[in-house]
Amino acid sequence: MTNYDYLIVGSGLYGAICAHGLKNKGYKCLVVEKRDHIGGNIYTEEVEGINVHKYGAHIFHTSDKEIWDYVCGFAEFNNFVNCPVARYKNEIYNLPFNMNTFTKLWSDVFTPEQAEKRIAEERGKDFKKNPANLEEQAINLVGRTVYEKLIKEYTEKQWGKPCNELPAFIIKRLPVRFTFDNNYFNDRYQGIPVGGYTQIIEKMLNGVEVRLNCDFLEHREELSALAENIIYTGAIDKFYDYRFGALEYRSVRFETEILDMPNYQGNAAVNYTSADEPFTRIIEHKHFEFGKQPKTVISREYSSTWQVGDEPYYPVNDEKNNALYKKYAELAKEDKKLIFGGRLGTYKYIDMKDCVRTALDFLNKIS
Ligand code: FAD
Ligand code: UDP
Repeated sequence: MTNYDYLIVGSGLYGAICAHGLKNKGYKCLVVEKRDHIGGNIYTEEVEGINVHKYGAHIFHTSDKEIWDYVCGFAEFNNFVNCPVARYKNEIYNLPFNMNTFTKLWSDVFTPEQAEKRIAEERGKDFKKNPANLEEQAINLVGRTVYEKLIKEYTEKQWGKPCNELPAFIIKRLPVRFTFDNNYFNDRYQGIPVGGYTQIIEKMLNGVEVRLNCDFLEHREELSALAENIIYTGAIDKFYDYRFGALEYRSVRFETEILDMPNYQGNAAVNYTSADEPFTRIIEHKHFEFGKQPKTVISREYSSTWQVGDEPYYPVNDEKNNALYKKYAELAKEDKKLIFGGRLGTYKYIDMKDCVRTALDFLNKIS
């Protein structure tokens, strides 16, 4: 006889949605979390009256009404629209790449037609029919000037590799528009939960037993014996003790400071796209909720190569790593008791909307 129907490893968004849904279906769940708090990477904590996104800025966006309605059931979302700004040396540009960016880059460009023509001219010289890497893909999309000022050095800081060794899909996430629209996302719905993200996870886990500071891998045998099924949202390669080798990740170090001023940079996110600064971006957290506090909190983000023992943040979904992940996923199929989910469990560079979708799809399959 086991004590629980489901043991859920990880109290991030995926684990919490599963726990909430399974509890509502009448299943008994235990959530174990190795950190000293719930929420995974969407965790926010209050500092000087400001909700600080402790593991990186998180903006919720989706075009799927079911997902939007679902998350709005756990918090009220504000009308924040992500309009990051790029700083390249002493120049400031709007992102994503749009008419505001193009007219500032080129003093003789005023209209969409002129911008398209200018990019077509630049692209013409280097166009690749089947772009084989991020550099070729980026130049195809926006030409060499935008690539050199706003993409190349930022991407190389972010991923720690030259752009011609990175997969093309990474840059396809970014919109390119010939309108004066600084909205970073194309999605229908977007916002930040008023009061931060942690409350969402708290509400999801209400009435579910949670053990903090509990690393499943340190108590694998006792914990496994407690439940009929295990949902694992940690890293799949670590779960199997790296038996086929370690998957590659990028890690991030956040340097957070409280400043005695009301407004440091005038925007939630400023990307530093030149190699002159070692960090990729600075987040000023109060602007996510239009804060008027007398002080401000900023975080500089330094991207780094992940090594065993570091916190993995971004899976590196290139061919080599995807093939290695497949070997782990095949192995996982042999254990009927075990389900891998979430960003690390499925080794996918997914946004919150994808995380909600896959968790709800999983729940729908359970009677
Ligand atoms: P996680 O949040 O990583 O949760 C996994 C949990 O499992 C963690 O709490 C971890 O401590 C715990 N755990 C792991 N191993 C063990 C173990 N052995 N024992 C016990 N506990 C364990 N998405 C967006 O939609 N918009 C954004 O703006 C955005 N920005 C992002 C910025 C950064 C820097 C990062 C890294 C991600 C961003 N994302 C964003 C993606 C978003 O964070 C994920 O989609 C989502 O948080 C994934 O949730 P998860 O539950 O899969 O993983
Ligand atoms: N990117 C860039 N310049 C920027 C912002 C993004 O070149 O100012 C590239 C970079 O390669 C990055 C990718 O676009 O990895 C995707 O950016 P996004 O902001 O979606 O990344 P994330 O939010 O996941 O860090």
